[in-house]
Amino acid sequence: MGARRLCSSRFLSTSASASTSARARLLRSRLAEEAPSPQDFVAGSPRPVVADHSAGRSDHSAVRAAAELRRQHGVPAAEASTSVDPALSDRFSRRHTYLRISLTERCSLRCVYCMPEGGVDLTPDSRLLRTEEMMRIASLLVDAGVNKIRLTGGEPTVRRDLPEIVSSLNELRPRGLRQIALTSNGIALPRMLPTLVLNGLDRLNVSLDTLDRARFVQIARRDGLARVLEAIDLALELGLTPLKLNCVVMAGINDDELLAFAELSRARPIDVRFIEYMPFDGNKWKHESMVSLEEMLLRLREAHPELSKQPSPPNDVAVSWKLPDSAGSVSFIASMTQPFCSGCNRLRLTADGSLKVCLFGSREVSLRDAMREGATDAELLELVGGALQRKHAAHAGMHQIAATKNRPMTTIGG
Ligand code: SF4
Repeated sequence: MGARRLCSSRFLSTSASASTSARARLLRSRLAEEAPSPQDFVAGSPRPVVADHSAGRSDHSAVRAAAELRRQHGVPAAEASTSVDPALSDRFSRRHTYLRISLTERCSLRCVYCMPEGGVDLTPDSRLLRTEEMMRIASLLVDAGVNKIRLTGGEPTVRRDLPEIVSSLNELRPRGLRQIALTSNGIALPRMLPTLVLNGLDRLNVSLDTLDRARFVQIARRDGLARVLEAIDLALELGLTPLKLNCVVMAGINDDELLAFAELSRARPIDVRFIEYMPFDGNKWKHESMVSLEEMLLRLREAHPELSKQPSPPNDVAVSWKLPDSAGSVSFIASMTQPFCSGCNRLRLTADGSLKVCLFGSREVSLRDAMREGATDAELLELVGGALQRKHAAHAGMHQIAATKNRPMTTIGG
């Protein structure tokens, strides 16, 4: 279904199609260049067999070629909307062009930093946003100037209709959407990823906090490391690069793996992103359990004095560094010790339809209720604009955040 949709779209023009096979051949030959897999960094782990997906390896090359074509023949910058509705600007002239949509509160894992031990009270289905309501908000915000949408959760792949959602978002490209991204724990990706890429997915962040199986079980309260590593291999094979690997660093739990994770960025185009542990409801955050950017960088530099700093794209939350001759990079997301609020361009839509203009702000606006009470698009946009006018310049600091009521991370979407 996805392939048919893509082929019939404007992204595959006749001239583009004519060069498809040549480009696919080139991509296939690149694929043939062997590079170590993340599996190679896990002692004693066999290299995974590339997932079958009943499509086979050659079809992976086709998926990759399709994604490459979309990148090259997507909406040209001049054609895409570059104007941003004043409603998306706040009092500090930050323009909010990045929407993160949480598709579900459910997750296939139970990571200690994300989900309270006893789980969370799930919102009844009737109070969750229906797909058409979510798409209405996405369309409205793309028309207003949002150009990047990231799908999060919970775990977004637990939604059976995820491929259709990606397809529907893909239809928004002519209206200005330039990037469709996904953050996933990777567990279901060996099965779903080719379809998602065919349907329009451009970017992927995979969460992975350890390269040790027993420790994975301890952190995620479930088994699954082999599947995640398989997903990483597949994502690289499909050309989802740079692939971002999100690692929440927790003192005494996984901070001894910094160097092993950094090694992943050497041979493959992986951006390993070390994230400072953040306080959310129910995750038992303590200052002592957080490893600061400064400390992580110190440890990496001790082992790799030649680590070099990379320029950061605008609005990027990460500070990036590179090991010499590495294909990827090592980045730090230091929300706690070096907040990046001055460049914040993020809006969050929770699975129950609330708009959060700040990850750590407890104030929310229910767009679901407004829609169900009959709000027009103009009224919805007014609500978004009003919430943004109340957005603070920066978060209140880690200790204040820890003492403030917010949602558990799994119901915000990170
Ligand atoms: S803490 Fe809030 S304002 Fe700061 S970067 Fe995160 S979402 Fe934006």
